Amino acid sequence: MTRVVLVGPPGAGKGTQATALSRRLGVPHISTGDLFRAHIANGTELGLRVKAIIDSGGLVPDEITNEMVRVRLADEDTRAGFLLDGFPRNTGQADFLRDALGGVDLDAVVEFKIDEDVVVGRLLGRGRVDDSEDVIRHRLDVYRKETAPLLEYYADKLITLDAVGEVDEITGRVLSALRDRG
Ligand code: AMP
Repeated sequence: MTRVVLVGPPGAGKGTQATALSRRLGVPHISTGDLFRAHIANGTELGLRVKAIIDSGGLVPDEITNEMVRVRLADEDTRAGFLLDGFPRNTGQADFLRDALGGVDLDAVVEFKIDEDVVVGRLLGRGRVDDSEDVIRHRLDVYRKETAPLLEYYADKLITLDAVGEVDEITGRVLSALRDRG
């Protein structure tokens, strides 16, 4: 069973790693950012509601985000586990996830540790709507204030890794840390 949460500032490479890890571990990669962007691209009602928030780098309200995650976690393919990328983003969402899993524990929470200056440079090169310098700074503030407290929340499951390096090398670091964890 592989129930893993990836945590780290925007631009730490969580999405890239989640894609690689999903293949290696055989569990789905669930990115709330990707789910929101798909809603926006498809012009759904949810997409219309969240677009301005996402473009400005704020957090979508928990009731919207949690409901979207609840629906996704009800899909059959999550039975064997999942890699959550970008969720939870605050302790309220973490409480929701704990309840949604109905007493089943997460196996690990992997923190991607990286310098803010490095991620700003990376994100500016990515070219997403929410990747302008102002918005990036705001997303980093949000990470520090809202998301970083999760590191304490998940202290007993936390695996902290250096997120600087080649993609394959970092994937290897995560896999061996998960293996060590049993
Ligand atoms: P990401 O692709 O993870 O960088 O997410 C892009 C944007 O989607 C974030 O800046 C938020 O506006 C929104 N978002 C993604 N995940 C969440 C979440 N768990 N809670 C609230 N907003 C989120």
